[in-house]
Amino acid sequence: MKLPQGKISGILIGSALAVLGLVAFQISWMRYSQRLSEEIFNQRVSMALCSAVENYKGGILCSSSGCSIGSAGSSGGSASASPSVNELRHDSAFNADLRKALDFYQIKLDYQLDTTEAQPAQENCCAISLPAAADADVQLSMSFPDKDSFVLGGMNIMVVATVLILLFTIAVLLMANWSLFKQKRLLQTNVDFFNNMAHEFRTPLTNMGLAVNMVARKHPELKESPLLGILKKENERLMEEVDRILHLASLDKGDHLIKKAPVPIKKMLQSVLADMAIAITERKAIVRLNDIPESWQINGDAIHLEKVFRNLLDNALKYSQLEPEITISVSEDPKGYLISFQDNGIGIPPSQCDLIFKKFQRATHSDIHDQKGFGLGLAYVKSIVELHRGSIRVKSEVNKGSRFDVCLPALN
Ligand code: ADP
Repeated sequence: MKLPQGKISGILIGSALAVLGLVAFQISWMRYSQRLSEEIFNQRVSMALCSAVENYKGGILCSSSGCSIGSAGSSGGSASASPSVNELRHDSAFNADLRKALDFYQIKLDYQLDTTEAQPAQENCCAISLPAAADADVQLSMSFPDKDSFVLGGMNIMVVATVLILLFTIAVLLMANWSLFKQKRLLQTNVDFFNNMAHEFRTPLTNMGLAVNMVARKHPELKESPLLGILKKENERLMEEVDRILHLASLDKGDHLIKKAPVPIKKMLQSVLADMAIAITERKAIVRLNDIPESWQINGDAIHLEKVFRNLLDNALKYSQLEPEITISVSEDPKGYLISFQDNGIGIPPSQCDLIFKKFQRATHSDIHDQKGFGLGLAYVKSIVELHRGSIRVKSEVNKGSRFDVCLPALN
């Protein structure tokens, strides 16, 4: 049995992409936050600057329309009576007001005042045009040498939290992937062990079967012995399970076991019924085989297809509380022939109808009804049917019965 290598690589690639996506998203989000913090800082500085200028000697430097932030001021005022922007820069009362306003807006940073040509605000400083100043063609601008560290300082907690969350996420994903790898290795070891064990069991089981047959031949009086019958039946059952394990293992390895030839459906189903006559009688079952034209043939591997039909019939006999009534019918289908096995058994809960075709999966009620099995039969059936480019599906109702429909391509 093979492990889903593709799925595991998919999980690894998926989680790596998820981490990369998360990192990229966090970086762009932090850049956006930084820009936002800078804008807030600039706004506060502008408001502090505005309020200091407006307070300055009753706002004589602003025109009736007020002082304008970051744009060239040109409207005329009483220029000759007003101080110039340059004088304002060095005015201690103005600087004291400005400090107070900055403190009010919680900007406790050293600043520099400059005069710049009237133009829109620059990136690192805030500027104000004073239309009523003597030199209205220049702006009063502010800059902060420590602005970057101040802005980033406000984001410290966010950056640390983001990095910690990212590291935690990466660590969890790494641990999950590591444990997935460990599980996979362990599972592979178990699967190899299981396959080897099945292989090792085959020879002793064959020898035991031969020995039972020899005893029966040498001692005809024991032929009808129930103990010998049990030995034979249990030996055959174990041989069948071992064969299924080995078949599934070689199918998983990619060995193409199918050797196609024309297979007459009627003959094949009749031979299956003949092989299972003892089991049918033991279970007191009624098995009906609908009339099938002799000419209906499948292009397939007779040995494997026989095992497929034996499995389906065996299940129909096994999973039944009453005396089983089983109908095998064959009809033409656009894709070939539809071979149906209908029983009146315990049925399968709808939620488990897909599950039962997977290896080692059994419907939950099978154990309750004391039917032994490894859950490998239908996995084998499905893989053989699919190797013939056919399909299998089940319709079932609990306590009413099940119908397994196998569709196989017609010959030619
Ligand atoms: P096993 O019979 O060894 O358990 P299978 O792969 O043949 O393995 O079947 C898987 C499961 O599907 C069974 O355990 C049983 O629960 C369910 N099942 C199969 N055939 C039938 C059926 N005809 N009626 C009810 N349940 C069925």
